[in-house]
Amino acid sequence: MSARYEVLVRHSDGARWQEIKYELGHVYGQLEVIEFVEVRKLRKNEFAAFWLCRCSCGKKKVCEGRKLRKGEYKSCGCAHLRAHLQRVRDNQGRFAS
Ligand SMILES: [Zn+2]
Repeated sequence: MSARYEVLVRHSDGARWQEIKYELGHVYGQLEVIEFVEVRKLRKNEFAAFWLCRCSCGKKKVCEGRKLRKGEYKSCGCAHLRAHLQRVRDNQGRFAS
């Protein structure tokens, strides 16, 4: 069992801290957060945590925690592709009959 904790990163002004949400074990759509990757500095005084996620199809993808929470990632991209292929198959069925 892993401990739940949150990470704080120090802003360059030295006075403020930014909280990095701990995402390990969380599930977003078909993505499960399996590993912490790194905290990257995006801009001055802005940090983002990146997490390795495993999609239900088995592929892995590195996602930004904030975007996961906003629902921007639901899968590695395969869900979108599957929906597209299903539409193509539906259309073919219609044209063939
Ligand atoms: Zn996938």
